[in-house]
Amino acid sequence: MRDIPVLDKGFVRLIESMGGDAGVLQAARVSFAGSSKGEVADRRLIEYLLKHQHLTPFEHAVLKFHVKAPIFVARQWFRHRFGAYNEISFRYTTPSEDFYTPESFRAQDQKNKQGSVAAPSLDQEGLRRSFAASVDLAFKTYHGMVEAGVAREMARMVLPVTVYTEFFWTVNARSLMNFLWLRADAHAQPEIQRYAEALSEGFAQTCPWTYAAFLSHLWTGKNAKLDAEKDRLCSASS
Ligand SMILES: Cc1cc2nc3c(=O)[nH]c(=O)nc-3n(C[C@H](O)[C@H](O)[C@H](O)COP(=O)(O)OP(=O)(O)OC[C@H]3O[C@@H](n4cnc5c(N)ncnc54)[C@H](O)[C@@H]3O)c2cc1C
Repeated sequence: MRDIPVLDKGFVRLIESMGGDAGVLQAARVSFAGSSKGEVADRRLIEYLLKHQHLTPFEHAVLKFHVKAPIFVARQWFRHRFGAYNEISFRYTTPSEDFYTPESFRAQDQKNKQGSVAAPSLDQEGLRRSFAASVDLAFKTYHGMVEAGVAREMARMVLPVTVYTEFFWTVNARSLMNFLWLRADAHAQPEIQRYAEALSEGFAQTCPWTYAAFLSHLWTGKNAKLDAEKDRLCSASS
C-alpha cells in the first residue's frame, strides 16, 4: 500500500498482511471442514459472523502497519491492547525535529467535556507563533542538555507530546474493527480520527468483504469518510 499521509508530517503504511477475507472464511469453516462456496455465500457468511458477534474468525486476518504519529496520538493508540507494538526509542536515537502543528486551534467544547469545536475567532496566528516558540525552546533545551552530557533518556523529558514518534502495529481484523469503531467516530479526537481513516484504507484493500460488512452491519459512528463509503455500499447493494 502507498504511504497514506496523515496530519502534517505523519503517515500510515501497510507493510504486509496475512489471511485476508479468505483467512476469515477458512477459520470459520474449519468447524465443519468446509471450503469456499463462492462469493455470494462467502460474503453472506462474513456478514453472519459479524452480525452474530462470532468474531474469532476475524482474528485470522492480520495486518502490519508502520505509523508515524504525534506522541499524544500514539498514547491514545497504545490503549488498544490487542495488537503488537514496537516503537522507536528516544533512548537510542535523537528525535528528528518533526512535530505536529494543527492547521487551526480548536476551542474547548462547552457541552462535551473531552471534545473540541472549530473556533475561527481565536487568534490563530498568535497561537501558532507561541506554539512554535514553545516547541523550539523545548528542542533547544533538549539539544543543549545532550551537548552538556545528559543522557538522551533524560534530555527527552523536556520534549512535548506533539513530537512525532514511529511504531509498528500488527493487529488482527477483529481488533482493527474495534479500533475503527472507537477512533474513527466523531467522539474521538480529530487527530486520531484521521489515522483511523487511513487505516480503513489498508483494511479495505486487504479484507474488502470484511470491511464492507463492518460498515454495513457494525459501523454506527459518525465519520464523513466511513459514512460515505457505507452509503456507497448500501446504494450499490440495493
Ligand atoms: C472517545 C474516547 C475517549 C476515551 N477517554 C479515555 C479517558 O478519558 N481515560 C482513559 O483512561 N481512557 C480513555 N479512552 C480509552 C478507552 O477506555 C480504551 O482504553 C481504548 O479505547 C481501548 O479500547 P478497548 O479496551 O476496547 O481495546 P483493546 O484494549 O484492544 O481491547 C479490545 C477488547 O478486548 C476486551 N478486553 C481487553 N482487555 C480486557 C480486560 N482486561 N478485561 C476484559 N476484557 C478485555 C474488551 O472487550 C475490549 O473491548 C477513551 C477512548 C475513546 C474512544
